[in-house]
Amino acid sequence: MIVTNAELLIRAKKGGYAVPAFNVDNLESVLGVLNAIDKTSKSAIVQTIPRTLKYGGVATYSALVRALYTGGADISIHLDHGGDIKTCEDCIDAGYTSVMIDGSMLDFDKNVELTKKVVELAHARGVSVEAELGTIGGKEETEGEIKYTEVEEAKEFVEKTDVDSLAIGVGTAHGVYKGEPHIAIDRIKEIADVVDVPLVLHGASGLSDDVIKACIKAGISKINFATHLRQAFSEGLKRGLASKEATYDPKTYMPYAIKAVEDVAAKIIRLCQPI
Ligand SMILES: [Zn+2]
Repeated sequence: MIVTNAELLIRAKKGGYAVPAFNVDNLESVLGVLNAIDKTSKSAIVQTIPRTLKYGGVATYSALVRALYTGGADISIHLDHGGDIKTCEDCIDAGYTSVMIDGSMLDFDKNVELTKKVVELAHARGVSVEAELGTIGGKEETEGEIKYTEVEEAKEFVEKTDVDSLAIGVGTAHGVYKGEPHIAIDRIKEIADVVDVPLVLHGASGLSDDVIKACIKAGISKINFATHLRQAFSEGLKRGLASKEATYDPKTYMPYAIKAVEDVAAKIIRLCQPI
């Protein structure tokens, strides 16, 4: 079934595992992710950033997932890094079951104000909301230096906004890591101890399996993977185009890209949900 992030993440928090969220770009990456969910029979989140919506259309990705998903495990459709209220509303109209409003570049009070507005309108329509406090490095929708999330601020932020999950800055970065990432596992634990809602880790593509497991143990319930899937898709496509079967017909070489996304996504699902 297609449910909200809140439903998936509360279960994950109680169960001591994390639900991976996969950024998709096109039909083939949607197919790869859905195949991985089918194959593992475990939950995952399909998500898009605003740039993807600009690329492929706001109504497209939710429609693809809804048309193609026949599996038994619960999944959700989420807007990643929503930058304004309108984008969140458009996604809710298009059938997303969860939206992120990213006010992390604003000061604390402005972030609270913006997040609260989105929470009110989303909750009225049965949709859950993720917000962000602190900063995550690298370029996705946000730029700037990494600011670790403060424990007391996180507590106050969640209480004031009634948000369903919170993305925190603990040293991760979007895109490809330059050098060895240093993740503040202790900070995750400190925040998890005082914040009731599930915590979200962005920029996990370059982290080792051990670091990911440690983050989950410390209290992370949702982990975003974008770069890994895009790399797998691109490598798979190159292999497909170079294969003997490759013809003028995309249906002969695209399956290589779909399978590459499926394999990476299935491995991540099993890592995050080992039970
Ligand atoms: Zn992110």
